[in-house]
Amino acid sequence: MRWECHECGEVHQELPEQCRSCGTKPEIVENVWRCSRCGEQGIAGTRTSCPTCGAEKDQSAQLAVATGRRIAGEQGRALAVGPWLYCAFCKTQVPPVYTSGPKHGQPTERCPTCDGPLAESTHEAKSEVIRESEAATYRPQAVQRRGGGDAEPPSMQPPTQPAGAGGGPSSRRVWPWLLVLLLVGGLWLLFGPGKKVGYTVVGRSWERSIEIETLQKKASRDWQSDLPSGAYNTACQRTFRKNIDVPIGSETYFEDEEDRSRCEDWETRTIEDEVDDGKRCTEHGYKTQGGVSVKTCLSWEKKTKTVRKTQRECARYRMRHVKKTRTKYKQEPVYEPFCSYEVDTTWRTTRTLRAGGSDDSSQPTWPTVEGLSRRERAGKRQESYRLRLQLDKGKREEVFTARDEAEWQRHRVGSRGRAQVKLGSVVGLVDEAP
Ligand SMILES: [Zn+2]
Ligand SMILES: [Zn+2]
Ligand SMILES: [Zn+2]
Repeated sequence: MRWECHECGEVHQELPEQCRSCGTKPEIVENVWRCSRCGEQGIAGTRTSCPTCGAEKDQSAQLAVATGRRIAGEQGRALAVGPWLYCAFCKTQVPPVYTSGPKHGQPTERCPTCDGPLAESTHEAKSEVIRESEAATYRPQAVQRRGGGDAEPPSMQPPTQPAGAGGGPSSRRVWPWLLVLLLVGGLWLLFGPGKKVGYTVVGRSWERSIEIETLQKKASRDWQSDLPSGAYNTACQRTFRKNIDVPIGSETYFEDEEDRSRCEDWETRTIEDEVDDGKRCTEHGYKTQGGVSVKTCLSWEKKTKTVRKTQRECARYRMRHVKKTRTKYKQEPVYEPFCSYEVDTTWRTTRTLRAGGSDDSSQPTWPTVEGLSRRERAGKRQESYRLRLQLDKGKREEVFTARDEAEWQRHRVGSRGRAQVKLGSVVGLVDEAP
């Protein structure tokens, strides 16, 4: 049986008398079982039958870890190594060594209940790792085929969660369908054919406009060397800008300097350092083995310790007098032209010329652009042509904006046709008027 020391984490391939690293002894405790026939509990793990009703300790017996009942010495280790076999004939769970009688401590050969040879056994108790907090709770005994191996300590199962968490799946599957339905409906409204309704043209109007843009300008002040390109109306004046350093020769001077090669005063300092110091168990558990369990560690944290070191350091070096040279400067003022200026910025729409008519005989023309100043120009042109339609259905009047001037020209006042209506609005004219 592989054993990881529950104090220091040292791994041993065989269950030792004590940890080779820290000296901790493996902690082997007894399991107790509950009889499934009469319900008697707290029966010692090494007992093979119920003291109350006499039922055998078979696979239906439930076990709990009695963390207070330690089993010391060779006997404990032999029980912890296992295996705890189930008799092939009467199904009794049998300890790996005799726990009493003249053969005490020797490997068990025959079933104490039916005297059948254990060599025929095919199944054994499976070892499991249990949290310390859950150790005292009765649980079913896991069973595996003989020689099925050992449980590894960190193979902890997370606490079982109640099944069926999260809402029912049906409610979650309805949503996508609803969205698809809404989308199809919307597309039908947008691209469907709509309704065709007869109409009479009862009025026409047109409007054309031209935007007039004005070139904007900005007035500001700056140094002549920093003026923006295209600046005009500049007026400059020589102005003090800054002082500059002008070299006028060199001078010598003396300076005290530490001589790092000559120490005059030593001191010792103590330095504290945190270093790794193995690990510490933060949660213990138990690994079951038939009628006994072995204490184990489920999670570790790193441990550190403080180490003190002394260091010798120089507190004061000898000073020396050193001759040095440096450049001398004088300050000179700099004058530069400082200017006020103007500069053109962007074109912006400042007014709009409009022309329009609502008389059936008036022909669309563009408004006349004239009298522009040098800082003005004609900009964006816009035109719109509207038809006032009276729909046959409900004698309702609707204003429709024609696609272009040609469509507008084809529909005179009094002409009839059919219009495409969607969601109560005219979206297009279908038939050409005769
Ligand atoms: Zn140890
Ligand atoms: Zn019983
Ligand atoms: Zn038996």
